Amino acid sequence: MNQDYIQPNPWSILEDGFDPKHVKSSESLFSLGNGAMGQRANFEEKYSGDTFQGSYIGGIYYPDKTRVGWWKNGYPEYFAKVLNAPSWIGIHVFINEEELDLNTCKEVKNFRRKLQMKEGVLYRSFDATLQNGVQVSVKSTRFLSLANDELGVIHYEITPLNRDVTITLTPYLDSGIENQDTNWDDQFWKTTEVKTDGNQAFLLAHTLKTFFYVNTFMQNKILLDGKVITLNPKSFTTSNYAALSYTKEITAGKTFSIEKMGGYITSLNYEKNELVDVANKLLEKASKKGFNVLKKEQIESWESIWQMSDISIEGDVKAQQGIRFNIFQLNQTYLGKDSRLNIGPKGFTGEKYGGSTYWDTEAYCIPFYLATKHQQVARNLLIYRYNQLGKAIENAAKLGFTNGAALYPMVTMNGEESHNEWEITFEEIHRNGAIAYAIYNYVRYTGDYSYIPKYGLEVLIAIARFWQQRATFSNAKNKFVILGVTGPNEYENNVNNNWYTNYIAKWCIAYTTEQIQHIKTNYEEDYVRVMHNAKLSQAELDKWKDFADNLYFPYDENHQVYLQQEGFLDKELIPIKNLDKAHRPINQKWSWDRILRSVYIKQADVLQGFYFFEDHFTKEELERHFDFYEPYTVHESSLSPCVHAIQAAALGRMDQAYAFYLRTSRLDLDDYNNEVEEGCHITSMAGTWMSIVEGFGGMRVKNDMLHFSPQIPEQWKSYTFKINFRNQIIQVLITKDKCTFELYGDGQLTIVLDDSLVTLTPKEKMTV
Ligand code: BGC
Repeated sequence: MNQDYIQPNPWSILEDGFDPKHVKSSESLFSLGNGAMGQRANFEEKYSGDTFQGSYIGGIYYPDKTRVGWWKNGYPEYFAKVLNAPSWIGIHVFINEEELDLNTCKEVKNFRRKLQMKEGVLYRSFDATLQNGVQVSVKSTRFLSLANDELGVIHYEITPLNRDVTITLTPYLDSGIENQDTNWDDQFWKTTEVKTDGNQAFLLAHTLKTFFYVNTFMQNKILLDGKVITLNPKSFTTSNYAALSYTKEITAGKTFSIEKMGGYITSLNYEKNELVDVANKLLEKASKKGFNVLKKEQIESWESIWQMSDISIEGDVKAQQGIRFNIFQLNQTYLGKDSRLNIGPKGFTGEKYGGSTYWDTEAYCIPFYLATKHQQVARNLLIYRYNQLGKAIENAAKLGFTNGAALYPMVTMNGEESHNEWEITFEEIHRNGAIAYAIYNYVRYTGDYSYIPKYGLEVLIAIARFWQQRATFSNAKNKFVILGVTGPNEYENNVNNNWYTNYIAKWCIAYTTEQIQHIKTNYEEDYVRVMHNAKLSQAELDKWKDFADNLYFPYDENHQVYLQQEGFLDKELIPIKNLDKAHRPINQKWSWDRILRSVYIKQADVLQGFYFFEDHFTKEELERHFDFYEPYTVHESSLSPCVHAIQAAALGRMDQAYAFYLRTSRLDLDDYNNEVEEGCHITSMAGTWMSIVEGFGGMRVKNDMLHFSPQIPEQWKSYTFKINFRNQIIQVLITKDKCTFELYGDGQLTIVLDDSLVTLTPKEKMTV
C-alpha cells in the first residue's frame, strides 16, 4: 500500500484536508465519466501546483507517428491515442483582482472532496484565505450526465467570509491543450472557430490527420444567494480560447454562484455543419430543465445502474468501498451503447495506454458486462472486433500471413495495430485467442448462438488460420511448435512454446472446427455465405487438425506441471518471499535484462489458461500449478491478482483469496502499484468483480446452467450481488451459514448449488 488518505466509506470516495502531494492521485481517483466522455477531477479554478489536466472524448483519437530507436519492418506507422480534448470545465475566479489558486493561497481549510458514487456526482468544498487577506468559502458540484451523454454540469459557488469584495467569475473553454503523451510534440487539434454569444460560447476544433470535428460549448447562469441574476458578461476570445467574465460586488456572507453547462457535440454522431445547431438545441433543453432536474436525472440513472450491478458487503467497509469504486469506474467508462467504443485500460482517467483497446476487454471485462447488463452490451464489444476483422487480416498480411489469416492488434483504436515494441506487437499473439474465447464466453453465458453464424464464425476462421500458419514443424521434436512469442507474462520475451499461447491456439482450432460443423447442420444459409467468402477447403481443415493434434506442450515430469515455456526450469527458482522487499516492484528497480532472466512472473500466465479452461483440468492439477507458479508471481500487472483470487477461492484458500481481493479492489485507492497519478486501472476492475462473483460466489456457467459454490471471507458478515442470466435476474445473498437466492423473471430457473439442483421460482426467496 502506498497511500491511505482516502477515507473508508461505503458509498463515497472521500478526501479530507488539502495536501498538494495528493492532487494528481485524486485527479485520477475522483475522475468522472459517462461512457461517452470523461475527465480527470481537475479543479475548476486555476491551480498552479503540480497537476495532470485531462478531458477525453470516447472514439476521438489521433495517429501519433511512431517513434522508435530502430525501425523494424511490420511496425505500425503510428500509435493512435485518445486525445486530451478541449476543456470546458474551467472557471477563473478573481477576488479583488487576486486569482483564487489553492497553490498560492495563504491558507486552505476544511478541504473536502467527495465522489458520491451512488449519484455519480463529484462534490468539493474548502475555505481559503487569499494573499490579500480575503477569506472565502467555495463549494462545487459537478457531474457528467448519463441521461444526455454530451452534457456536463457544474454548480460553483463562492462566499466571501470576512469582507465585502469584488468577484469576477470567468468561465472559459480552452482548446489550446496538449497531451503529456506525445511522440513528436505535434499539435493534435486545430481550432477553426471561436465564438461567444450572450451567456454562451463555443469552440469548433478538429483533430489533425483524423479530422474528427468537435464543438466544445458552454452556457452560464449567474446566481446571487440562490436567485438567478442578470449580469452582462464581458467576452474574451483568442484563437483557441473563449471566456465570459461576470463581475459583481459581493457583500460578506452572500453567495455568488455560477451554473455552467458544457460538453461536446462531435462528428462521430452528427454532420460537421450541424454541430453548433445541435449544441444550441441541447442547451435550450438542458436549461429548461435546470440544474436540479438534471441532477435528479443523474441520480436516477445511477440508481438504475446500481440496482443491477451493486455488490453490497456487510462488515468490511474497505472491501465495500473497493468493489463499489470498481463497479462505478467501469460504468463511467463503458455503457455499451456504441459498438465503435471500447474500454481503454485507463478509461477516461489518464493518457497511459492511449485509451486504446487491449485483450483486457475480452479476457476481463466481458464477464462483468455480461452479468450486469443486457446481453447487447457484451455483443457490442464483440461487434467492435467483428467490424475490425478486415484490418486484422491486413495486419497479419503485413507480417507475411496469407489467405485471410487474422492477427488482431495488441493495442488498437480503429483496428490497426498501434503498438510498436517488437516483443509485444509481433510476439504477444495470445491476444488473438482471447478474442475467440470471448465469442465462446458470450454464447456460453447468454445462450445466444445466433452471434456465431452471423458474425463470429468469420472471426474464428480467420483466427484459426493464423494459428496454423504461425506454427513451425520441428523435426527434432516431431511436433508443431510456436516459436518466438511473448505470453501474458510480459517479463519473458521471444520464448518458444509458451504453454498458454499453445493451449489457446489448439483450443481455437477445436472450437472453430466444432462451430463450422454445427453451422453446416443448423444454419445452412450462413454456412454457404461464410464458406463462400472464406474459401475454406478440406485440405486446409486437415492442416488445422494436424497442427492441433500434434502441437507440443512443455511439461515437467518431476514437478508434474506444464511449463510456462521451454527452458523455464533453467532459471534460478527463488521464491518471491526470499526476495528483498527493496527490490520490488522489480519493474521499477531492476534492469529489463535482469527481469527477463529472472523467474518472476508479471501476471497470471499458465494460470490464465487454467482460469479460462478450468473444466479441462482437475482440482489437483489446478492446485499443483497454483502452488508451483504463485510463489514466483509478482502481480505487477493489475490484471493478475484477480485470477489468483478466483483460483485461491476455488482451492478453498479463503485467506489468500481475500488478500488478493483487497489488492485488486483497492489497487488504485491504496495505490499498490505506485502510479495512480497516471490514471486508474479500469480494465482490471472487472477482475475485482470476478473475484467476488466467480471467486467467493463460485459462479460458473456449465452446460447452460448457472452454478454457485459460495464461500465467504472471514472478515465479512454477508455479501450480495445480482446477475442477469439469460434475461432473468438472480439475486444472491451469502452469509456465514446460508445462501439465499431470489429470482426476478417469468419462469422458474434451476441452478446448481455446489452439487445439487435447486429450482428457483420468481419472487420466492430460496434459502439453503
Ligand atoms: C499487461 C497486459 C495488458 C496491458 C494493458 C500490461 O501491463 O501486461 O496484459 O494488456 O497492461 O492493461
